[in-house]
Amino acid sequence: MPNPSLAQPGEGRTTALAAALRRVIEADGPVPIGHWMAAANAHYYATRDPLGAAGDFTTAPEISQMFGELVGVWLLDLWLRAGRPAGVRFVELGPGRGTLAADALRAMRSGGLAPPVHFVETSPALRAKQAEAVPGAAWHDSLADLPDDGPLLLVANEFFDALPVRQLIRATDGWRERMVAAVGELFVPAAGGRPLDRIVPDHLREVAPGSVIETSPASVAIAREIARRLRDGGGAALLIDYGYEGPMLGDTLQAVRGHARANPFEDPGEADLTAHVDFGTLGVAARAEGVHVLGTVGQGAWLQAMGVEQRAAALAAGAPDKAGEIDAARQRLTTPDQMGELFRVLALVAPGWPMPAGFA
Ligand code: SAH
Repeated sequence: MPNPSLAQPGEGRTTALAAALRRVIEADGPVPIGHWMAAANAHYYATRDPLGAAGDFTTAPEISQMFGELVGVWLLDLWLRAGRPAGVRFVELGPGRGTLAADALRAMRSGGLAPPVHFVETSPALRAKQAEAVPGAAWHDSLADLPDDGPLLLVANEFFDALPVRQLIRATDGWRERMVAAVGELFVPAAGGRPLDRIVPDHLREVAPGSVIETSPASVAIAREIARRLRDGGGAALLIDYGYEGPMLGDTLQAVRGHARANPFEDPGEADLTAHVDFGTLGVAARAEGVHVLGTVGQGAWLQAMGVEQRAAALAAGAPDKAGEIDAARQRLTTPDQMGELFRVLALVAPGWPMPAGFA
């Protein structure tokens, strides 16, 4: 069998997922964007390790060990200043290859913290990778299954961008749900039939046709759940992703395949579908549950405040032949024209816990 992910679009090949989505659309009509994105990403992540040079994209923890280490230092520092509470757990949402967790846990151990590890991960392929990187972890399908008997030290890097968004689009005669329709062999975005003006804020009713309002109900629900657990059990969360302080108008849905932009409506389940994270809305949701919300700050500023320069210098001193590589990684993670500004860091902190580092 040829690897389906290597086949080119337009070859007349149809994956099982594309065929299933086509049947649904033919039977019931176009599906909402969120349904399309959820189905595509569930298949995508379940069937591969998408990270690294040979995959579709690379993430901060895969660029340098410094990233996970400084996340670990941030969590360790909070725990120490909280008075070393017993019963804390390390939780990561969407841990990828487990690289961030392994680096963070090593940094935490150096300061006397070795918490039990809980991963929220749905992909069997990535769970296997995580088991190699972090022996002894426990896995959960969702946050709902996590124990709630102690403080959580939680991190999510490039997790929220993979969660489905809902889009509304301004048609010439009013607001509609943005859907995916099937036209011949193609999938295409299309405006739904039902008028939805009543759910759009007044000041946005009359914007230009083609305007899009994007929300992520799944992300808001998860942010609330994290905040509720921190409020009731203590701890803190660090959410890192590319995003913005919304809400705002705009369509940020994109597909990435083989380190290049792809068409999000082509080959469902064979490219990574993402949307920019609306940290403004997640912050409001978390604050409503009663936690402190800090940020966002740019990833570059946050890493600098956490001592990335010093860490890079120490690593280079220990491995002079790698000094160039280490400095290139530091720059990639921090400079504004690379990952320093578009990537944002948001912190949620339980009431009664100390204020965290890096958000001055
Ligand atoms: N945090 C990692 C991986 C980012 S890729 C890194 O920075 O390298 C997104 C991760 O989220 C993958 O591990 C993917 O399998 C997981 N994921 C995506 N959607 C998910 C969902 N709905 N529930 C749980 N995990 C999910």
